[in-house]
Amino acid sequence: DEGTLREVHSFARIFGIETEYGVSVTGADVPCDASQTAMMMFQPIVASARSTNTYIENGSRLYLDVGSHPEYATSEACDPMDALAVDAAGELVMRDLALDAQQRLRATHGPRATVHVFKNNVDSAGHSFGCHENYLVRRFVPLDVIEHELLPFLITRQLFTGAGRVTESGFQITQRADFLDEAVSSATTRSRPMVNTRDEPHADPDAFRRLHVIIGDSNRSQWATMMKLATTHLVLCVIEQAGREGRESGFSRFAFADAGAANRAVSRDMSGVNASFAMADGSTLQGGAVAMQERYLQAVEQFVGEHPEVASSLPRTDVHDVLRQWRNTLEAFRSGNANALGDSVDWVCKYRLFEALRARSSADLPLSKLEQLDLDYHDVANGALYASLLRRGALRSLIDGREAQKARTMPPADTRAALRGRFVSAAKSHGAQYSCDWTRLSLHAPRKMDMVLLDPFQCRENEDFQAMIGALE
Ligand code: ATP
Ligand code: MG
Ligand code: MG
Repeated sequence: DEGTLREVHSFARIFGIETEYGVSVTGADVPCDASQTAMMMFQPIVASARSTNTYIENGSRLYLDVGSHPEYATSEACDPMDALAVDAAGELVMRDLALDAQQRLRATHGPRATVHVFKNNVDSAGHSFGCHENYLVRRFVPLDVIEHELLPFLITRQLFTGAGRVTESGFQITQRADFLDEAVSSATTRSRPMVNTRDEPHADPDAFRRLHVIIGDSNRSQWATMMKLATTHLVLCVIEQAGREGRESGFSRFAFADAGAANRAVSRDMSGVNASFAMADGSTLQGGAVAMQERYLQAVEQFVGEHPEVASSLPRTDVHDVLRQWRNTLEAFRSGNANALGDSVDWVCKYRLFEALRARSSADLPLSKLEQLDLDYHDVANGALYASLLRRGALRSLIDGREAQKARTMPPADTRAALRGRFVSAAKSHGAQYSCDWTRLSLHAPRKMDMVLLDPFQCRENEDFQAMIGALE
């Protein structure tokens, strides 16, 4: 018995992804708006959980706030691949809720009513919604330092994590640059809307923070989901180690003069190398997002060379392989060969589909046609495109459908999600009433019992836990 990852590894991380989905109905005889549709989807959940906020067998949170965007927040994972599996399970959860709602809807709204659930970030009314990443970081690094040193990385990583979007003014590599930009220019602190500053660690507040990243698109490419978590983790390792040693990470030199402007420039530069950025120190950085990413990559490579233990910070992901793929991705842009990334980078995949459609059609393609294709790519309920891309090998997958299916009921084994998942499964199978939040398990009936799980790395059953399970039987 070698202790939890937190006890054995000073670079251990907790990852979580929150995804808001967009919903709509087409083909209905009577209109059905998004919030109605979302409520239809959540009817079975309300019936069993008596709430639109619940935790499921894999330890993840499934909920519907006021409004029309169902959200799924993955259970805590120590490895990007586990977070990816639980995220993929979330797509299946949403799909099934949608198809079930669709069946009921057809009785009242006609036989062709079709429910769409989009894993994207902009709806047809022009509202934007989020995909947030959560990273456990050590308390000793001040949040404004993390923000300041990480932001140029977060903005430029979109080169390989952007989901792409067709707009009236052309193609953009990210979904949300224009929206975040508005928020940026009206805010007093320029980076605020890109990183959430609310201090809610869901863990021991003396030891940890939860870094809550707002800037980022929802990904359909599994490679992009894995890479955004893994590369961000490595940059955070550099920042944390500097904090541990009470010195500068060196990343503050990378600060943009205007984060919102840099974000817009990145989103519009499909070459990855043409944009130039006004820097906070008064200089100009040429060479686009690639030039900035190369700076971070080089620093991380050097850091991993000096701290070989970082290589084992991720239990199931090979850090050297992540570095190699990161380098290859940047080199593809450097050499004008970004087309080769169409099987892994969402926006490149999508852009190539648009180009193929354009080449096949004689007349000028109306924007609506491209928008339709764009939406279909993100539709986890009734979309055809994504599945066909996977089948043809035009889009890589890192986990298959069986693994995603398994992750619906199987939480990551090395975090408290394992305990939460076991509790939820047991409570459900005994018809008990329960509720959870990230740091607490509560049994309401047949008995009232509570258990606090403050350490996200705690994965072993203790006596309290066994007593709660015992109370169910
Ligand atoms: P809301 O979205 O309702 O404003 P929130 O930001 O707290 O609340 P949730 O939707 O509840 O977010 O999701 C929290 C996410 O943080 C989950 O993906 C979860 O796995 C992750 N998480 C939980 N505890 C930690 C932690 N200690 N460190 C990092 N991530 C965590
Ligand atoms: Mg949330
Ligand atoms: Mg959140």
